[in-house]
Amino acid sequence: CGIVGYIGKQNTTKILLDGLKELEYRGYDSAGIAVLKDEKIDVFKALGKLVNLEEKVNATVSKNDYEIGIGHTRWATHGKPTELNAHPHLGEYSYVVHNGIIENYKELKDDLSSKGHKFVSQTDTEVIVHLFENFYNQLNDTTAAFKKTIESLEGAFSILLITKADPTKVFFFKHGSPLIVAKGKEENEVLFASSDAPLIGLSNDVVYLEDGVGGIASSNSIEFFSDDYSWSTLPSSKQFAQK
Ligand code: GLU
Repeated sequence: CGIVGYIGKQNTTKILLDGLKELEYRGYDSAGIAVLKDEKIDVFKALGKLVNLEEKVNATVSKNDYEIGIGHTRWATHGKPTELNAHPHLGEYSYVVHNGIIENYKELKDDLSSKGHKFVSQTDTEVIVHLFENFYNQLNDTTAAFKKTIESLEGAFSILLITKADPTKVFFFKHGSPLIVAKGKEENEVLFASSDAPLIGLSNDVVYLEDGVGGIASSNSIEFFSDDYSWSTLPSSKQFAQK
């Protein structure tokens, strides 16, 4: 339902949680975040209101030393609203949030299961992260593995993926569900969101991704897989409720 992402030196968990609050109006049944620095990753998920997630995060995280994170509010389409089915979904070393529906998830799940991948949720989303790891294990190249993952998916999806195999990057793609990439106001900062609201005040330069466009972001570069994009300016913050 809602997606946020962040690369930068500010308080990563706070930026993600504040961003998810801006998306609350869309409705959701559960929420979660994954935050990463180098080899250290933490995942938090909670059913119900965002305050439940916030309490979990605040009980564990005392200081922010994360530099990358992804977050999600879920509106279940495949699999009941449970904590296990909440995003981010994880493989052995990678993490994904997804809006939309993967139409061919059953075939993919059967195939990956037969190759030894262990699934723990009932969602369509979980295949994405296992597909990525399946390709990465073969190719040893995160970009190639992400592209092959996208090529294998049918349906509607906007995706953010992070991985310990390449811990300074966020892999993103949009097809059928909205996704915005933004440069932060601070130096070396990149933000993602499924609608404008979480970006207001944090960014001036955004790309409303077209269908079929994705790429890779790190603190000092945003690289698109296609030339089919252009930067634009966010509407004035006055058009939105001030935070
Ligand atoms: N189909 C996914 C799920 O059921 C994503 C739903 C959403 O867009 O929130 O988990």
